[in-house]
Amino acid sequence: MYSVNYHRAASVADAAKLLKGGDAKLLSGGMTLIPAMKTRLASPSDLVDVSRLKELQGVKVSGKTVTIGAATTHYDVSTDEKLKKACPALAHMASLIGDPAVRYKGTIGGSIANNDPAADYPAALLALGATIVTNKREIVADKFFKGLFETALKEGEIITAITFIAPAKAAYQKFRNPASRYAIVGVFVTKGKDGVRAAVTGAGDDGVFRSKEIEAALAKKFDASSLDGLKVSADGLMSDIHASAEYRANLIAVMARRAVAAANA
Ligand SMILES: Cc1cc2nc3c(=O)[nH]c(=O)nc-3n(C[C@H](O)[C@H](O)[C@H](O)COP(=O)(O)OP(=O)(O)OC[C@H]3O[C@@H](n4cnc5c(N)ncnc54)[C@H](O)[C@@H]3O)c2cc1C
Repeated sequence: MYSVNYHRAASVADAAKLLKGGDAKLLSGGMTLIPAMKTRLASPSDLVDVSRLKELQGVKVSGKTVTIGAATTHYDVSTDEKLKKACPALAHMASLIGDPAVRYKGTIGGSIANNDPAADYPAALLALGATIVTNKREIVADKFFKGLFETALKEGEIITAITFIAPAKAAYQKFRNPASRYAIVGVFVTKGKDGVRAAVTGAGDDGVFRSKEIEAALAKKFDASSLDGLKVSADGLMSDIHASAEYRANLIAVMARRAVAAANA
């Protein structure tokens, strides 16, 4: 490990100041950034730790509006009783991330800032039509996730919260890598007042995406049977040592059917 300056931010405003100058990076759960530093894929001059900021922690539910602080851990999302009532699908999704150590340290803000193409939260937030709140502006999920490990965040911009209206129905199903637990394919479906949304992670060669064909099929009737015979094209899907594009295409249809059945259960 090379030498790095560590700062524990006193507030979001303090973190924003500390990020100016040098090649500083925010540190939240450190589950992605620290391994990247160990292998020199990242080599920031300074780390600005926001993981202990109270203003970035916790789940709030007001009516149907859910707001989750950026530094809320996966464990806290998965066990929050208010969230389990308002949107059990998201709490369930968080419970499927990695292993207990990853869930205790990793955070929702760190996960979506990283935008790993196999991460779970990007699919959830896209399907929930969530809004990402930063210290500068609000960004809708449809415009936030730009591609592999790429987001709409600007240099020095800090995610402070994620907010969404809880849908009437939602569920997430993933076919996971047995070693890392990352999604080989994960599908999050929702049925809310603005209709049906279905987002796919783990499969797209440009990262998370909404499946227009699944959404169109479910718009007629939100039932797993609406997806019978659905053929997903392998075009634009990833092929790697874990699965071919064709295998992933088949998994998308299977996971989507299971997700809709779970949402209706
Ligand atoms: C063994 C293992 C298994 C895993 N399995 C899964 C899995 O099954 N599913 C899954 O989705 N993920 C999985 N992960 C990833 C995990 O969810 C991480 O917690 C997550 O990707 C990063 O969150 P973090 O809080 O640790 O972020 P960090 O590592 O601290 O930061 C990641 C990036 O986000 C930036 N950042 C952090 N906070 C903010 C903020 N508030 N605003 C702007 N930028 C910010 C950092 O500067 C950095 O670039 C796994 C990780 C490991 C190590």
